[in-house]
Amino acid sequence: MKEEFMRRAIALSVDNVKNGGGPFGAVIVKDNEIIATGVNRVTASCDPTAHAEVSAIRNASAKLGTFNLSGCEIYTSCEPCPMCLGAIYWARLDKIYYANTKEDAKDIAFDDSFIYEEIALKPSDRKLPSESLLRNEAIKAFQAWASKDDKVSY
Ligand SMILES: [Zn+2]
Repeated sequence: MKEEFMRRAIALSVDNVKNGGGPFGAVIVKDNEIIATGVNRVTASCDPTAHAEVSAIRNASAKLGTFNLSGCEIYTSCEPCPMCLGAIYWARLDKIYYANTKEDAKDIAFDDSFIYEEIALKPSDRKLPSESLLRNEAIKAFQAWASKDDKVSY
């Protein structure tokens, strides 16, 4: 079963190259059934977040009507980038299966190692400049959230 699911993710990735997308595909499985698929549509849809895994998560969440995909597993044709890995954690997926490694991706100029390296640094030491502004004003939303009785935690 696992190999069958991965072959589907790989087939999506191969087809996506023919369809003008990047060479990435993913499927999400629940109870031994594919419930959603996703492919990379970054250039085709002018969406830098349209990676296969994020697309599959969006499709699975819409299909199941939930933001929590615990009980589901993702099969992706390539080891997730930091954005997708974060999305997979946020979605609470149970397990990641991947085929190509991030080193394989680097070999065809999809190198996300610099992002992994950046994450480990303090914000002030990263190549991407960032600075905190108006924290004392922004904290009001956090205070409102913390004291809200009917919030949906996630
Ligand atoms: Zn990604």
